[in-house]
Amino acid sequence: MNRVRCLVLNAALGPLDYKVPEGMMVEPGQVVECPLGPRAVIGIVWEAERLPGAEVPAEKLRALRGLLPIPPLPAPLRRLIEWTADYYCAPLASVARMALSSGGALKGPATTIEYRLTGGLPERMTPQRQAALEALEGEQATIRELAGIAGVSEGVLRGLVNQGCLEPVEVDCDRPYHPARPDFAEIDLSDQQQAAAGTIAQAVREGKFAPFLLDGVTGSGKTETYFEPIADALRMERQVLVLLPEIALTEAFLSRFEERFGAKPVLWHSSLKSTERRRAWRAIANGTAQVVVGARSALFLPYAKLGLIVVDEAHEVSFKQDDGVRYNARDVAVMRAAFEEIPVVLASATPALESLAMVESGTYAKLDLPSRFGGAELPEIRTVNLTEHVPGRGSWLAPPLVEALEERLARGEQSLLFLNRRGYAPLTLCRNCGFRFQCPNCSAWLVEHRFSRRLACHHCGHETPPPETCPECGEPDCLVACGPGVERIADEVAERLPDARVFVATSDTLNSPGRAAEFVALVENGGVDVIVGTQLVTKGFHFPELTLVGVVDADLGLEGGDLRAAERTYQQVAQVAGRAGRGSKPGEVLIQTRHPDAPVIAALAAGDRDAFYEAETEARRMAGAPPFGRWAAIIVSSEEESEARDAARRIGDARPRSDDMAIYGPAPAPLSLLRGRYRYRLLINAKRSARLQDTIREWLGALNHPDGVRVGVDIDPYSFV
Ligand SMILES: [Zn+2]
Ligand SMILES: [Zn+2]
Repeated sequence: MNRVRCLVLNAALGPLDYKVPEGMMVEPGQVVECPLGPRAVIGIVWEAERLPGAEVPAEKLRALRGLLPIPPLPAPLRRLIEWTADYYCAPLASVARMALSSGGALKGPATTIEYRLTGGLPERMTPQRQAALEALEGEQATIRELAGIAGVSEGVLRGLVNQGCLEPVEVDCDRPYHPARPDFAEIDLSDQQQAAAGTIAQAVREGKFAPFLLDGVTGSGKTETYFEPIADALRMERQVLVLLPEIALTEAFLSRFEERFGAKPVLWHSSLKSTERRRAWRAIANGTAQVVVGARSALFLPYAKLGLIVVDEAHEVSFKQDDGVRYNARDVAVMRAAFEEIPVVLASATPALESLAMVESGTYAKLDLPSRFGGAELPEIRTVNLTEHVPGRGSWLAPPLVEALEERLARGEQSLLFLNRRGYAPLTLCRNCGFRFQCPNCSAWLVEHRFSRRLACHHCGHETPPPETCPECGEPDCLVACGPGVERIADEVAERLPDARVFVATSDTLNSPGRAAEFVALVENGGVDVIVGTQLVTKGFHFPELTLVGVVDADLGLEGGDLRAAERTYQQVAQVAGRAGRGSKPGEVLIQTRHPDAPVIAALAAGDRDAFYEAETEARRMAGAPPFGRWAAIIVSSEEESEARDAARRIGDARPRSDDMAIYGPAPAPLSLLRGRYRYRLLINAKRSARLQDTIREWLGALNHPDGVRVGVDIDPYSFV
């Protein structure tokens, strides 16, 4: 009898064995429908020897219900799923679920009905019908989408269908994408770019695992450089995956890609419509999606014939996922390349210390782009000591920065002010009684957003309109904003430079690729004088007329003192500084700080990257921090405070004794209440040689907790809240 072992997509269940019905052919990686009680679940046929499970007698086995009409998950992807689950101490099923992340795609080929104009006119014309007929010229989409385009109700369009003015068209849900052409519009590269591109392209052609760190100053043309090995992969009919850290950056990337290759790449991110998602997934699985540009979740898709992976802005924190399976896409990308036996490129102007350590140890090859493309100079960087140049009362811009802004405005050039704080003010309190507005679900202050007239929690999304009276003492009109957010800085700019056109660029205003594209066009067409933005504007954007960058508060990132505070400050300020002077005009950067002598600020002002990395490396070595030692966190949470505390205490009491690791806590997390759950943390600092994951698995696996308790493991954590 023929039996198979399946990984079922239910994290609570182990692997299950099934009988293969007569006439059914199965192979590892195949996605199947498995009976489970009265229901069916999706499972993946796995190599039985790699997935230990209880041996069930043959007569007790139930038969598989059927095969899903999709290609089997390739072996390199199955190995990646195993590695990720093992390394990050995550359930195998939760990782596998990320590979099958489109329900629609699993159902097989399908068609859908779209509508388009016939050219006919309705018997009775109404203003709405008129508007629809004008707006839908050249469009073809579902009724719902057309209603959105035309700004009329679906009922109006159904009326037009009945009148014969709109006709149905049957469309293949999996219609192919426009092909990208490797030779569409080749770009002239500098000698440096050409050398780097050639090395990567060689590895693509050889088809072997080769990790590269493409280390280039901001504005050096890293994107154009890795376009050339992409072209080589296309010529070999291999697929390419480009991971980007922010969805807001994709639009600028897409247009550059289209100019080079004559077609848009295939997109993958969380805000795709389900039809777009299924189409992309199926094209990725059957190999017709040539280049996929996506967020970190694109990493686990079932590429049929991957030839190259690029991780752009590889130092970015957003590659680290902090809930569910807590993985770092930068590191998993390297593992995927290893299993696929292909090259991987990590591109950055400010590489993570861990990546540089991999270069040092000879694991990664480093490719340098030390100068800016087209001869543009790196900007001049100066600090503004806020203890000497004190901004006026209720203001945050010191006189030298205001003067620099005025100069740019007079010359018709653009400026960018950077402050990594969304909203108007980070804290709102009552002037009368001192009441502070706090989120009911989190131990965090509510942030005032004046544009949208609300108080919002940036952790859980809780929102409330600003009250007219204090909820504590009842005093009317008593709210005071404490400290600045970007909206408040924008107000100050408007007050001091009344003629300036100011744009606030944050994830609130650039919350879709379309809005981001509008912003880029507005700045490029000279419609903005001063951009006030968060970390969203520190990367990816290329504005030739932008000649001044002001860092409103460089000390902000250093407060709180988490492990990577100095590195993150360095990266953010260096990245935002890199926005200045990318065209023919020289750029200038002013960094406002109260600590101009702090090593990270001094290194930034001196433009001395090596000095910063050396100092930071030494500090990490002393602390046994990555890359010299390893960290892991255990996060215990429950809706019941006492339940969370007791569970954390039990875990603490059961801590393993080991000379290779120090275990701290449990202690209430800095964010001790998050989305209605009370949180406790333990932190583990281990030697590199320690059996970190095995120890954690044995330790936690021996304990049982009430149902309401969740215990999460974060290997190589970035967040310490
Ligand atoms: Zn009050
Ligand atoms: Zn909250």
